[in-house]
Amino acid sequence: MDSLADKDHRYLWHPFTPMRDWVSEEPVIIESGEGAVLRDTRGREYIDANSSIWTNLHGHRHPAITQAIKDQLDRIAHSSFLGLSNEPAIRLAEQLIQIAPPGLTRVFYSDDGSTAMEVAVKMALQYWQHRNQPQRAKFVAFADAYHGDTLGAVSIGGIDLFHSAFRPLLFEVIRVNDLSRLANIMREHRDVVAGVVIEPLVQGAAGMKLWRRGLLAELRSLCTEWGALLIADEVLTGFGHTGTMFACEQEGVTPDLMAVAKGLTGGYLPLAATLTTEEIFRAFLGDYSEFKTFFHGHSYTGNQLGCAAALANLRVFKEEQTLVKIQPKCERLRAGLERLRAVPHVGDVRHIGMIGAVELFQDVATKVPFPLADKVGIRVCAEMRERGALTRPIGNTIILLPPYCVSDQQMDRVLSVLAESVRAVVL
Ligand code: PMP
Repeated sequence: MDSLADKDHRYLWHPFTPMRDWVSEEPVIIESGEGAVLRDTRGREYIDANSSIWTNLHGHRHPAITQAIKDQLDRIAHSSFLGLSNEPAIRLAEQLIQIAPPGLTRVFYSDDGSTAMEVAVKMALQYWQHRNQPQRAKFVAFADAYHGDTLGAVSIGGIDLFHSAFRPLLFEVIRVNDLSRLANIMREHRDVVAGVVIEPLVQGAAGMKLWRRGLLAELRSLCTEWGALLIADEVLTGFGHTGTMFACEQEGVTPDLMAVAKGLTGGYLPLAATLTTEEIFRAFLGDYSEFKTFFHGHSYTGNQLGCAAALANLRVFKEEQTLVKIQPKCERLRAGLERLRAVPHVGDVRHIGMIGAVELFQDVATKVPFPLADKVGIRVCAEMRERGALTRPIGNTIILLPPYCVSDQQMDRVLSVLAESVRAVVL
């Protein structure tokens, strides 16, 4: 019992992982990474085909981000943000506001996507109390939504497999299962809705399901009409993943609250932020004795190392013209995914920006899914791993979301590995 693999099996509990299956296999233990490639302790190399669960943007060990973290470490790693401030957090807030949809003016830091969403929900609720409308305490959320794993985020989430076990602890939401009823739902509940929560343009953990174009802008109008706050979860979509800096830009939308995380530090350190408007911020101003304070904060709020990494990430966007450079890569991904439609059992292919998804069906014509228990998605990803590409499935959907530094050759390799792996599993 002394290899790393043995110790992993003995001491660890991995996230979203059926642990009996996990301990029956040798784990891949990552030792290093460079660009789009991860290397394990046995010296095997893999293309990081889901950007380390949708976080990494410019590649691993990017010199600018690495150096920024090292430089910050030479000054200080962390000091509290409660009653104190720090330079990287201040500079980052200014820069986030410069690139955010116009009208967002304030930055509240937290640690990850779940907490950024938790902050958005709590802020919205408290905002209405300060506005003397405490009856506005309900949230509208969509079927198949995913906003994280803390209890507030799970409450607004709508994926039964992940969320049903926790139902006794969750708050009730107004769930939109049928988009054609959206306007009616907003009108019926107009007096009690605090906010509407949406993953703009694409629902990630639902298997990269794309919203129809225009829905986000319509939702913005409905929120404005009925006085509800629009909460955009840009945890996945932020920082270029849909081809623009933020997904909301594509429909000219400014939400009232916007959560960012994952790519904020380029995928280097856990840091998140909830951006909001001056109107919401101002509602929290008052005499001390009114206790209008936003009572929320984490030990690592405003962490200097994370903020330094995020500043370097934004600098790389500018210096390397990342948003311009990824456009042909988005197109290459789209074209490659379209070709995969010819592979047996590929029943749907979804794509936006650098995000791709391939959904497998037992019967493509009738859209009969493979039973989840057959682990088809898991087996395809295991085959991909053997062929040198790492990603994770969502049910029978395989996600491709390579880092922006991916070369044409690496992109083509991932696409052909996926095709070969599907054939190996389903034929
Ligand atoms: N929101 C969305 C849209 C996400 O995709 C995720 C994570 N996949 C989260 C929130 C939660 O983020 P985290 O895992 O960093 O808590």
